[in-house]
Amino acid sequence: MERESLEMDVVFVGAGPANLSGALHLARLVARHDEEVAAGKKQGEPLGEIQIGVIEKGAYVGAHILSGAVMDPKALRELIPDFEGQGAPLESPVTNDSFLYLTKSRAIKSPITPPPLKNHGYYVVSLNKLVAWLGEKCEEAGVNIFPEFPGAEMLYDERDAVVGVRTGDKGIDKEGHRKANFEPGVDLLAKVTVLGEGPRGSLTKQLSQRLNLNEGREPQVYSIGIKELWELPDDRYPAGSVTHTLGYPSDAQTYGGGWIYGLRNHVVNLGYVTGLDYRDPLLDPHAEFQRFKQHPFLAKLLEGGKLLRYGAKTIAAGGYFSMPRLYADGVLLVGDCASFLNAQRIKGIHTAIKSGMLAAETIFDALVAKDFSARQLSGYARRVEESWIMKELRGVRNFHAAFSRGRWLGLANAGLQFVTGGRAWGLFDRARAEPGHEVMRKLTEYGYRGDDITQRYEGLRFDGKLTFDKLTDVYHAAVGHDEDQPAHLHVLDTDICSTRCAEEFGNPCQRFCPAAVYEMVEDGAAGRRKLQINFSNCVHCKTCDIMDPYQIINWVTPEGGGGPDYKGM
Ligand code: SF4
Repeated sequence: MERESLEMDVVFVGAGPANLSGALHLARLVARHDEEVAAGKKQGEPLGEIQIGVIEKGAYVGAHILSGAVMDPKALRELIPDFEGQGAPLESPVTNDSFLYLTKSRAIKSPITPPPLKNHGYYVVSLNKLVAWLGEKCEEAGVNIFPEFPGAEMLYDERDAVVGVRTGDKGIDKEGHRKANFEPGVDLLAKVTVLGEGPRGSLTKQLSQRLNLNEGREPQVYSIGIKELWELPDDRYPAGSVTHTLGYPSDAQTYGGGWIYGLRNHVVNLGYVTGLDYRDPLLDPHAEFQRFKQHPFLAKLLEGGKLLRYGAKTIAAGGYFSMPRLYADGVLLVGDCASFLNAQRIKGIHTAIKSGMLAAETIFDALVAKDFSARQLSGYARRVEESWIMKELRGVRNFHAAFSRGRWLGLANAGLQFVTGGRAWGLFDRARAEPGHEVMRKLTEYGYRGDDITQRYEGLRFDGKLTFDKLTDVYHAAVGHDEDQPAHLHVLDTDICSTRCAEEFGNPCQRFCPAAVYEMVEDGAAGRRKLQINFSNCVHCKTCDIMDPYQIINWVTPEGGGGPDYKGM
């Protein structure tokens, strides 16, 4: 097939906070360098027109961006010192913090807010709006942004050096045939490609496997955050109010916690995080969130309110020990796909922005040196190592892994870390992490009898006022995919679904997917149930790629522009 090739200098894959910050910082470094060389203030050659591109699978910058979010502004201040003056879309400064322990019927307020959850001086933000604003800054600085361009494949030379990225084809029907509007993807050739795809990036997964970037690291562990925006009838939860919760509805073996952030105009943003290293095969993160809202404290808060929006996204929680090698020939990893999130503070926007800036400084040096080898690009790992990112992540290096022994030991560890400088339970430098799909137990191992897969959530009803089923929630994520295209969820062996998985795990994809994509339906002829994939519901959270116990689900990018629309989320 004839494909167009486009020569760029640097291509950033994914228009998230890390990549947009990186692209903006790089454009400014190049412009300043050339100005200083021209003015005789600096020796060397001008770099001239450096082509910087950002590709994004969503329909616009921010379409697929979902986060809590309370932002530590430290890195944004380094990138744009007067971001407030320049009109950064900030919902509100944090005005008060509280921390609640939830039992089934009570909300016990902690007399002190744990230091990692103190948010004074920070901002409640919509990350969707923030990245849209960063995108505008990038365009003003001369960066080319290509929405609706999913990165489908990495391009390598004969030495396995990355030489760019191939974008996805458009106009293929569900049988795999070309439609009238067929357009082949473009080969974007670049001296350096920067992957900032967020958690469980599909290209990052390909690259890491091919180049062994995770060798010697702990496996990445993930959580899933499920979020809704609600409009309240009055100002009962003012803008800037921040609450975090622990306890109900998670059981003591499952990592989980909730958040409630006050936005402007009587809107609250609330959500629930469930660790994707749970044991119970019948656990359903979306149902956990519905139970969270049924707690008397939440139910009272939301009384008379109205659901506005819904979204779900995974969080890479492994941190320091799960960090892959950050560079190879012609490529760098930034943001969540490089494991820069601080799980203890539930914050990753500041580390993402900073990582993008450090990547930009490294690429700038590489452009000056005309050397894009792994040796030259290793300067990025050195910069990260010497930056405040690593200081911050090293201090909490065992935070998530310590919860593998349950809530109470995890919490004890979180407290002990302060005096031991990050050791696990005060003893070990490195606690072992297990990938979530290996942690999930089979139905009988977990103690279930019979094949009733609804038993964990017996009694949970979706009343359409406080609690909603997945399809109603998906409607509020404004998801859209052209239905006449091949499914972007590749299940390598669907026979396993009807046989082993049904028996051993009760088809957990029906539960861990927060968007009702996977459904087991009657297969009349065979007298058993078969998998149906409702791919057009997919909110691109990547949970299935992570949690499938047989690791036979491969999430790939659908046609550009498809997916959720997280406007204002
Ligand atoms: Fe998330 Fe996979 Fe469901 Fe899509 S299909 S919403 S990626 S779990």
